[in-house]
Amino acid sequence: MHDAPPDPTEFDLIRRIRQRAAGRDDVVLGIGDDAAILDAAPGRQLVVAMDTLNAGIHFPLDTAPADIGWKALAVNLSDLAAMGAEPAWCTLSLSLPERDGPWLDGFLDGFLALAAAHGVALVGGDTTRGPLSVCVTAHGWVTPAAALRRSAACVGDDVWISGSLGDAAAGLRFALAPGEPAEDDERTRAAVRGLRDRLDRPTPRVALGRALAGRVHAAIDVSDGLLADLDHVCEASGVGMRVWAGALPCSPALSETVEADLRRALQLGGGDDYELCFTAPTALRDALGELSLALAVPLSRIGTVGVGERVRVIDAGLDQDGPEWVPPRRGYVHFDPDPDPTPDPARERD
Ligand code: ADP
Ligand code: MG
Repeated sequence: MHDAPPDPTEFDLIRRIRQRAAGRDDVVLGIGDDAAILDAAPGRQLVVAMDTLNAGIHFPLDTAPADIGWKALAVNLSDLAAMGAEPAWCTLSLSLPERDGPWLDGFLDGFLALAAAHGVALVGGDTTRGPLSVCVTAHGWVTPAAALRRSAACVGDDVWISGSLGDAAAGLRFALAPGEPAEDDERTRAAVRGLRDRLDRPTPRVALGRALAGRVHAAIDVSDGLLADLDHVCEASGVGMRVWAGALPCSPALSETVEADLRRALQLGGGDDYELCFTAPTALRDALGELSLALAVPLSRIGTVGVGERVRVIDAGLDQDGPEWVPPRRGYVHFDPDPDPTPDPARERD
């Protein structure tokens, strides 16, 4: 339990953060001065990512503070993972509507638990008053030339995805539509809780990203929706892709709660999965199967890279021929001039 002093000031809040933030050997000076001082070892390249979470846009308003804290760091570690980087440090900009000590303590529970799990030190930040918004930068390392870039996909590569797709989008859907799904047995309730957990507590695929660095070609983390994100890889690499709808990995919770057509739409365009999608030469199939076992992270081969400009979905199983399937949406876009006709008020976004 944390006892909140009445009406903490900005400096009380920062003191609470400072007291709980763990260090690292390479943090020469952490929270407390005008800026942090960090030891940058020679022979490595620094990788920097930043992501903001706004209340009601990137997480539903009823999200627990600890889950907001976890997710704010997780989405940034996911970006580092997609570059193949080893995370080291982060900074945290917090905009809070009130000076709420217990809220901050809950937030730090989630944020710092994930930071500790990956040996990441919180080295600074900013604390201001305003609408609830959390902005994090994460810093990590790669050996030179090992980083995984969106521009590196090659014609003939396989397309791979970690974990499973569509859970977080289903979790959001159910969060915004109480009463769905209709069956009210304990098994369904447990599945819905599991889906919501994927939305609130994404797992950044850090170990996988590091293991892939220098070995596979292009990589991206799936934040906006598989097709939208793979379109970015196609554009950056000057290639096209075919993805087999029948090969998309699906969790038991998703197949139990969502019927097939909607499930496919959520898997391809739902977003917030924070899985790693990457392209690799076909010669790596066996090695990737072994890596999947070694890391206990499922890896599914879902597509192939060819000539073209974007991703086409084939309504068939892996490596089979079939008609093209046109999805209702490819993913989420901020400031979209042509948005989804039935937008969710609390769509999740990176
Ligand atoms: P300044 O006014 O010089 O920018 P601040 O009072 O904003 O300094 O911050 C003082 C110290 O506290 C700095 O080291 C800053 O990085 C740290 N800090 C402020 N807010 C946060 C936060 N939300 N998380 C982590 N560190 C923070
Ligand atoms: Mg400041």
